[in-house]
Amino acid sequence: MKTVLIIGAGGVSRVVTTKCAMNTQTFGRIVLASRTKSKCDEIAAEIKERLHVSIETASVDADDVPQLVALIQSVKPDLVLNVALPYQDLTIMDACVETGVDYLDTANYEHPDEAKFEYKLQWAKHDAFKARGIMGLLGSGFDPGVTNVFCAYAQQYLFDEIHTIDILDCNAGDHGYPFATNFNPEINLREVSSKGRYWEAGKWIETEPMAIKMVWDYPEVGPKDSYLLYHEELESLVQNIKGLKRIRFFMTFGQSYLTHMKCLENIGMLGIKEVEHKGMKIVPIEFLKTLLPDPASLGPRTVGMTNIGCVIEGLKDGKPKKVYIYNTCDHQACYRETGAQAVSYTTGVPAMIGAKLILEGKWKGAGVFNMEQFDAKPFMDELNAQGLPWKLIEMKPGESYEVD
Ligand code: NDP
Repeated sequence: MKTVLIIGAGGVSRVVTTKCAMNTQTFGRIVLASRTKSKCDEIAAEIKERLHVSIETASVDADDVPQLVALIQSVKPDLVLNVALPYQDLTIMDACVETGVDYLDTANYEHPDEAKFEYKLQWAKHDAFKARGIMGLLGSGFDPGVTNVFCAYAQQYLFDEIHTIDILDCNAGDHGYPFATNFNPEINLREVSSKGRYWEAGKWIETEPMAIKMVWDYPEVGPKDSYLLYHEELESLVQNIKGLKRIRFFMTFGQSYLTHMKCLENIGMLGIKEVEHKGMKIVPIEFLKTLLPDPASLGPRTVGMTNIGCVIEGLKDGKPKKVYIYNTCDHQACYRETGAQAVSYTTGVPAMIGAKLILEGKWKGAGVFNMEQFDAKPFMDELNAQGLPWKLIEMKPGESYEVD
């Protein structure tokens, strides 16, 4: 019987914990720990009612390595699944090295005082993981995560050479609020208000935030304004997809979201440095998070679809080839199954699948790895079986779904 220790009790945690409870043949014992234990108890009670599976709960401050080590030593898990915030990645990885337990997360490390996310500090732990004989799987969400697996599948099974990749992330859900974020507001707004960046002909090209826009006709959703952003999977895919000439990432945003964000930015509400307010120190973006709807509360009111996928072009048997691999999700169907909307669902399901493949020994290694470094096939099969079925469209070389 394998034991998983899940850390964090937000929207993504609700999905991953539910999905582990739906796969008890792999996850024989599930322990859920977070800063606020009552949130773990709430998720555990819902799962007990829905699936009749018992989840143990605990409290932990995941910024504190000794606390994490003590928890891991008492729970004795086979894997620690981190769905707290990116700020906790390094401390949880250190605790895994100290206790000799495998590690998985869904987002790369970000320093609370610098809106800058990169793999450097997590990759630097490769040797320590290797020496301890344990595995760290980085970015097992949807993007990063499934998007990396789609690219790996194309490289391993569909193409001889891949030349260009566009990752296209569309959330056409409507929660009815003038402004809210679908996952942690601090992390979301820091990502979206940063400069854009893509990789072409061997170098990174930086753009002003939201400077490059196109309208893409998403299958099963329709045309949506899509903006070029920097996204963390680009960093590892550039290294692991051989022969790549260009890779970009686009995400959809509605005009209301962008207008609110610009206004908040202009008045300093996205600031990440402390300011003095009535003798107290506050961080503007943290205060904004307090005001905004909790993403975990959006589930019941969000309607519509998501479509996230990769358009990949290259050569097969000397001939040009182009494919579009994508998944669509319906927010309300996700809510009915797990009590969370599709953005949490599309992150939580792949986190469970990554953990399942590690615990079943299908993905194994000593060190720190990104998703595309493993055989994509078992992951692609699990996506179909666990609620995120994918589709593949053979496009004509040069064909595009971009509309004027
Ligand atoms: P939430 O903000 O809803 O939940 C985060 C949870 O982490 C909360 O329960 C919070 O506790 C807990 N937490 C925060 N700090 C600590 C700490 N120091 N010690 C213990 N627990 C802590 O976030 P989401 O569920 O929306 O996102 C979870 C993760 O998933 C994030 O890292 C996010 O970046 C990532 N993500 C990845 C995606 C992908 O496709 N790869 C897409 C979307 C999200 P408390 O309730 O007490 O604040």
